[in-house]
Amino acid sequence: MLIVMNREATQKEIGAVLKRAEALGMTPHLVVGSERTAIGVTGDPRPVARDQFIQLPGVLDVVPITKPYKLASREFHPEDTQVQIGPIRVGGNQIVVMAGPCSVESRSQILETAHAVKEAGAHALRGGAFKPRTSPYSFQGMGVAGLELLAEARDETGLPIVTEVMSPSKVEIISRYADVLQIGARNMQNYALLHAVGESQQPVLLKRGMSATIDELLMAAEYVLSHGNRKVMLCERGIRTYETATRNTTDINAVPVLKNRTHLPVIMDPSHSTGHWEYVESIARASIAAGADGLIIEVHPSPNEAMSDGGQSLKPKRFAEMVKQVAAIAEAIGREMAPQPVLAAQPSR
Ligand code: PEP
Ligand code: MN
Repeated sequence: MLIVMNREATQKEIGAVLKRAEALGMTPHLVVGSERTAIGVTGDPRPVARDQFIQLPGVLDVVPITKPYKLASREFHPEDTQVQIGPIRVGGNQIVVMAGPCSVESRSQILETAHAVKEAGAHALRGGAFKPRTSPYSFQGMGVAGLELLAEARDETGLPIVTEVMSPSKVEIISRYADVLQIGARNMQNYALLHAVGESQQPVLLKRGMSATIDELLMAAEYVLSHGNRKVMLCERGIRTYETATRNTTDINAVPVLKNRTHLPVIMDPSHSTGHWEYVESIARASIAAGADGLIIEVHPSPNEAMSDGGQSLKPKRFAEMVKQVAAIAEAIGREMAPQPVLAAQPSR
């Protein structure tokens, strides 16, 4: 349930509500809005609990949260959540674009791509160092050496980095390098992993499982939130249907549905949702038109030579064109592109 405080409620009154929740064996979560403060309470939803709070000084109302996901719901947090990733803010009125190769393959590949996507208008660099591949015989990623290269690319461009984590034991090492921990589609319901990233304070990009419902995605987000990490972004990356013309089917409906049900930022991945570079620009435009807060796009300098997902990767020139188109759509719906990160001046030697 959500305990809504009066606009004028004092810190002491808010503190008394937190203490009462704890005394009742519940977990209070502070939600500081621009207008007023509220306290979400999870744990034992005993009916008597409402009476325990409604009489406390400073309390305006106590409302039940009807959805199974609590902390992820709009009822709990009516305002859009903004997630800070390095110098970039995701959520709110500005659109962000994350871009880079499916996998980090070499120093020259990641540095060249990082500079190219920055030049084209990207706000963050993606690249997998630990790769979840369908076949055990496919390239599995460069591992920690790939993380080192991503960090070098960030130093050169100022772009924060997004990279995948596949197991709880790797959360700590990947957090040392990454600005955003990506949870891949195949791991959306890996509860041990959700728990581990929930305990870290790193921003998380949680991808929808290829056969997960929207509510299951929100319940997966709830795991991360309930373990204390509020910095969660959701990613629609296409779902598996009977259609074979594309790798997955972009669930464009998921964008307005998610925006309606949750306060968390929504990012679209048209690369995986279509699986063909020819369709990426079109779905990128449609996603922003539908209300997505950002995009994650696979870009490779020579897609034909890519070690993974070359067929769905844009060349830098096309990517630059896509960013221009997306900016035009953003403007048409009263939004704008976020400013790009600026590179801190390097000390002269
Ligand atoms: C990826 O981002 O390269 C990836 C493996 O994505 P997904 O988990 O959505 O398949
Ligand atoms: Mn990929």
